[in-house]
Amino acid sequence: MMNSSLGPVVGVDLGGTSVKAALVSPELELLARDSAPTDVSDENRLLEEIEQLVRRVAGDESVAAVGFGLPSQIDQRRGIVADSINVPLTDVPFVLRMTERLDLMVKVDNDANVACLAEARIGAGKGRANVIMLTLGTGVGGGIVLHGRVHHGATGYGGELGHMVIDENGPPCQGHCPNHGCLESLASAAGVRLAAEQIAAARPGGTLAEAVAKGGAAEVRVVIDGALAGDTDCVDALAIVGRHLGVGIANYVNIFNPDVVVVGGGIMAAGELLLGVAREEAGRRALRPPWREVEDRGVEYDDELRHAGHSQPETSARVTSKTTHAGNATTG
Ligand SMILES: [Zn+2]
Repeated sequence: MMNSSLGPVVGVDLGGTSVKAALVSPELELLARDSAPTDVSDENRLLEEIEQLVRRVAGDESVAAVGFGLPSQIDQRRGIVADSINVPLTDVPFVLRMTERLDLMVKVDNDANVACLAEARIGAGKGRANVIMLTLGTGVGGGIVLHGRVHHGATGYGGELGHMVIDENGPPCQGHCPNHGCLESLASAAGVRLAAEQIAAARPGGTLAEAVAKGGAAEVRVVIDGALAGDTDCVDALAIVGRHLGVGIANYVNIFNPDVVVVGGGIMAAGELLLGVAREEAGRRALRPPWREVEDRGVEYDDELRHAGHSQPETSARVTSKTTHAGNATTG
């Protein structure tokens, strides 16, 4: 399956639960796909599992290259995975190891970065050169595409939008982050639970207080389903999360002046109940010129994300550029 000419490529999406691979033609046609539960027991077993999965998906095709989206911080200068979330990859010369195993051109990037690139190329940000993407799930993933290219920073560790501080006195962040009050601690699943607890404490007779008393309020699904069904406590809990998200979006709009901000991830099942509040909050806070470039209407959900093989986004919505949305010249 060794071939350096233009042929199909294999894309691999590694998550803590499953590893997915797809064979894709140069025209972006999906030719084959497969997946396996992630072997988190050991680095070598995981690399072996990934190799076998790539070989299965590639079949007899002359594959040009294989690209990996990893839940990791990656030193792009040396092709080294420095640290990872939920998978046993720490200080691993990943590009070298996979090149040895597969004898193919190997490209590697953070999973949120490649998700953002996919959005810019074929998803909700299609045709836009400057795309900011957030995925709200267990954590908050972030990707930045500027002038059509992923922004990596000096080493490859850049683009961690989830670790922008929203509240300097906020709750401790998650995982290996030493910070407090990051977007990741306030607009993730943990952030939804925290907001639900705040509402429960403030309204002792309310539905969330009752749910807490029964031990059930902590479930994100309960809050989102309750809000979608019109429960005021749940709607207000999501509004707290939405305001935090809006503060973050205002910051990103001021810094990056994007064409489009794409928000996806499991928590976006809350849809407008979350994003509507976030958009209003961002609109109150962002500087006027860059905000005017980002449309404050016409939120669209991109079901294609669900089928594109991304591990996190289940639904996504966007705040689009007015000019590009209207079909005029891009603002890039
Ligand atoms: Zn953080």
